[in-house]
This record gives sequence, C-alpha cells and structure tokens, in this order.
Amino acid sequence: MADYHLAPLSKLVEQFERLPGIGYKSAQRLAYHVLGLSEEEVKQFTGAILEAHEKIHTCRICCNLTDQELCPICRNPARDHSLVCVVENPRDVVAMERTRDYGGTYHVLHGVISPLNGIGPDQLRIKELLNRMRDHTVKEVIMATNPTVEGEATAMYLSRLLKPLGVKVTRLAYGIPVGGDLEYADEVTLSKALEGRSEL
Ligand SMILES: [Zn+2]
Repeated sequence: MADYHLAPLSKLVEQFERLPGIGYKSAQRLAYHVLGLSEEEVKQFTGAILEAHEKIHTCRICCNLTDQELCPICRNPARDHSLVCVVENPRDVVAMERTRDYGGTYHVLHGVISPLNGIGPDQLRIKELLNRMRDHTVKEVIMATNPTVEGEATAMYLSRLLKPLGVKVTRLAYGIPVGGDLEYADEVTLSKALEGRSEL
C-alpha cells in the first residue's frame, strides 16, 4: 500500500477511522480528499472542529449541548419546567422537538447503563437529574430512553430512584418499535408515544 510508507497520511487515515461509522476504505477516501483541499479550506475545517470543541459544553441544568451557561429550552420561561423528558443523547432532543407537541424540558443522560460496555450509572448525568428534584418544581419525569434492553433497564433504574422523591415517572408508549431508536422515529410516531405514555 502506497500510504503505508507516508506516515502523515497513515496518521490522518487513522484519525478518520476512529470516527463512528467510518471504516478503513471511507477513512482512506476522506484522507485523500483532505490532501486535495486548499490551505484555506483546511484552516476552515480544522477551525470549525476546534471552535465547536471549545465553545460547546453541556447545559448546567439539563446537560444538553449549548454554547451558553443554560440551553435555550432551560432559559425559556414559556416551557413547562414541571415536566422533564429524559433522553439518551442530544440528538433525541432534536427528534422530540421536531414533534412540536412537547412543551416541557429535557434531561440528557449522555448514554445508557450498559454493564457489557462498562458504562455504569456514575458515567451518566444521573446525579444532575436527581439534583433537579430538590426544589420540587418537577412533577413528572418522562422516560424517553430507547426501547432497547439497556434503555429499559436505565428507565427502570431511574424510576426506582425518582419515585421515592414523590415525582410521577412515566414511560413513552410504544409506537416506537422495540429495539428501535428514538432518533429515527418519525414525528407522528413520537407524538403518539408521548401522548400515550403510562406511569412506571
Ligand atoms: Zn438545558
């Protein structure tokens, strides 16, 4: 292989290969593409990576991504702050927002409990969720983790922690296919799942 002997090129291929969903062939294609870019284009590309990485962090309340202290949803007084929808990742917030039926707030766990992958409760934003229960503003927590084994187990785990705090815990109804991904559910399915949620 030609690129075998070109260390900087191999390094670049390696970096692309680390990205989710990118195999060796795609990584190689992307690396050669980058080599063909102008100096200015490369600066724009690396600048965008650095800027996003530097400016975007998690919201102090809901742990969703934001470039300010609080995300726009937590800052919005028109949202129902007594309602918290717990999701696995920031992309799920985007999916829920697309339905336009949900007027509450969110809590982003940044993963699910997965003993097989070595992810325990301490690696998720669970402490932050429990902290939100302290001032008794939150009346209902909707578990919107994905209908996978890990998603269900995480919802049950959280339910056991939340219920003794006197908060109502509900689960999305399953128009969402079991094993499916919230992120890829269409708006109508998600709206129905929200509407038909039941108490855990
Ligand atoms: Zn927030």
